Parts: sequence; C-alpha cells; structure tokens
Amino acid sequence: MNLDFTDAELHRYSRHILLQEVGAVGQAKLRAARVLVVGAGGLGSPLALYLAAAGIGTIGLIDDDRLELSNLQRQIAHTTARIGRSKASSAAEALTALNPEVTVEIHERRMDAEAARDLIPRYDIVCDGTDNFSTRFLLGDACYLHHRPLVSAAVLRFEGQLSVFKRGCACHRCLHPEPPPEGLVPTCSEAGVLGAVTGVMGTLQATEVLKEIMGIGESLAGRLLLWDALDTRFRTVTLHRDPGCALCGDNPSILDLSAHEGATGPVCAL
Ligand SMILES: [Zn+2]
Repeated sequence: MNLDFTDAELHRYSRHILLQEVGAVGQAKLRAARVLVVGAGGLGSPLALYLAAAGIGTIGLIDDDRLELSNLQRQIAHTTARIGRSKASSAAEALTALNPEVTVEIHERRMDAEAARDLIPRYDIVCDGTDNFSTRFLLGDACYLHHRPLVSAAVLRFEGQLSVFKRGCACHRCLHPEPPPEGLVPTCSEAGVLGAVTGVMGTLQATEVLKEIMGIGESLAGRLLLWDALDTRFRTVTLHRDPGCALCGDNPSILDLSAHEGATGPVCAL
C-alpha cells in the first residue's frame, strides 16, 4: 500500500490520521478505495460529500435524473442555480469543489441490470440511495452475485433504516424475500420526508462505508438499524441468514440478474 502523502494531504486529513484506528494506513486505504454511490439525491448528497471529504480515491455517481426545485429541501449537494442540470454532474461539481484530490466518475444512466453488470465489478463497495424497490432488489442481488458489500439506507417521513449486506451474513432477501407489490409502500414523493432525516441516514451510511473500507469497528452486516426521529430513538435488530433464502440460501434459485432484465423502475433518488 502506498503510504506516501503530500504535505497538503497530510494537512487535509490530519484529524483522521490522528485517530489511532485510522492513522496513515487507514487514510491510504480510503485513498485506494473505489465507491459507487447509486442516486445523487437526499441520501446520496451527504453520503458522497462525506466520502469526498474523507478522501475516498474514486467515487462513482450514478443518476439519470435532472435537478428540480422540490429536491433542494434535502438534496444538499446541489444548488438552486443548478436546477435543470443532471444530478450526477451537479453532485460531481460539489464533490470536486470540496476535495479536488478525489476522482469523481459520472454515470448519467439508469441503474438497470446492464448498468449493474457493467459498473458494480468496477467498484469495491456500493451504496444504495434510491427510492424504489425494483432498484433496491437489483442492487442487493447484483452486489451479492459480484461479491461486493452493499451499504443500504432508506428513509420515509421521520424514519430511517440502515444495513450492510455482505457474503456470509443475512442478505437483503433474508429480510424481505420479494419486493412489495407496486404502490403498497408509499415513496417519499407520495408520503413526504423530513430533509434532515435523509441527512442523518446518508451520513450514517458514509460512516459505515468508511468503517468497511478501513476494517475498523463492528460491521453493521447482520444487523438492521432503525431510527425514529420523532421519538429520537435508535434501535438495532439482528438479522439471521435464512437457509431457504432464494439468493444466499443453501439451494439458491437466483443465480444471475435475468429476473431484473427489462425492469423499467425509475431510478429516483430520495
Ligand atoms: Zn439471503
């Protein structure tokens, strides 16, 4: 591992390097890492900003949406002046302004089965900040099949959820075997969300990504974090791997992404 840092890097990351658990080795791991952020929205904004600030070497941003006025209540990587611009390129501008040491790769495309097969193997770790079940299930299946950890967050109204899915621990299908029928669970555009709630969950997501890359602390894999902002209460529940799971079970039936072929769910970021 390359432990050579410029004076500017040592200065920029000095508060990280001071931490015994991080140090120069942890910072070098962050610099060598490639992280894919799916959705440059409410979760993706704080997530990608903190990853850039932390010195992740390469951040991929995938989003095929354009910035709208109603996004700005929570999607803080963007600005009013950039309404109408591609969200991926607008967020990339914010990340580069914050930390020019970081390489940002812009993917202005829909996260479908083809994009998953193309992009996921090119990154070390994937973060899900999307707002629909078809993309969540596609990412969960694709990350499992490509052996990539998935850091997945979700928010609605005043509540948030977070987990890490890795081989050997419960997968997303152990938690929910199938996506709920369309329209059963409201989206944020139907039910609303407090902007700061996406900020907290995206920031927790960034923290778990940094932990996974550096291999520090206790991984959230095999656990689900639940937060109720109105009650100010965090809870963690243990997730058990289901031996009958179609993806990670003893006799899996999902062996590729063919079930996701032709799916046309929108990639709206929260
Ligand atoms: Zn499973």
